[in-house]
Amino acid sequence: ASFQGLGLAEWALRTCKELGMKKPTPVQSHCIPQILGGRDVLGLAQTGSGKTAAFALPILHCLAKDPYGVFALVITPTRELAYQLTEQFRALGSSLHVRCSVIVGGMDMLTQAHALLSRPHVVISTPGRIKVLLEDNPDIPPVFSKTKFLVLDEADRVLDVGFQEELGVVFRCLPKTRQTLLFSATMTSDLRMLLEISANKAYFYEA
Ligand code: AMP
Repeated sequence: ASFQGLGLAEWALRTCKELGMKKPTPVQSHCIPQILGGRDVLGLAQTGSGKTAAFALPILHCLAKDPYGVFALVITPTRELAYQLTEQFRALGSSLHVRCSVIVGGMDMLTQAHALLSRPHVVISTPGRIKVLLEDNPDIPPVFSKTKFLVLDEADRVLDVGFQEELGVVFRCLPKTRQTLLFSATMTSDLRMLLEISANKAYFYEA
């Protein structure tokens, strides 16, 4: 297997090479073509499987062709994961001048509101903080009115009871036509339900 043939642009193939990614991991070779093909994806994959690049590469590929507004919103359960995801997005998108914002608790809210209003290409957030910003500033929901991708990273943890209300607020601000990408360590009933209501004929990947 190689990164060629998955449908990714030349710049992305070069970036993978520069980052020492010689060949795709299984979650990458299965999910990248499906995401590029417009399908929703539920991938059961552990940390270390290469799942971040499995969604970041096709998102960046699509963003490079037609960048507008906040192109992708990535929700992850913890601050630390949010920073790690941002690092990977920045590394994989280094040749694109992609603008990423991390929106997590513990940082100044006004600064974060300004960051969102400047419409970065990719927003990486924890569920609690994005919910507060969407609710407290009427100018922020429109920032997400054309968002093309929603990613739930560690989706089993994000969908856990504690975050249901937060996610409701987030889902309502996103267009129905977006692609939804779910990556999770375990299968849960919430994930199964989201997969069933998927508008884009979801693809299910399990290692
Ligand atoms: P993740 O599972 O997304 O947390 O990725 C785990 C680590 O594997 C990250 O540090 C990536 O940079 C690295 N990685 C991802 N895909 C590949 C690949 N195809 N070849 C080598 N390393 C990779």
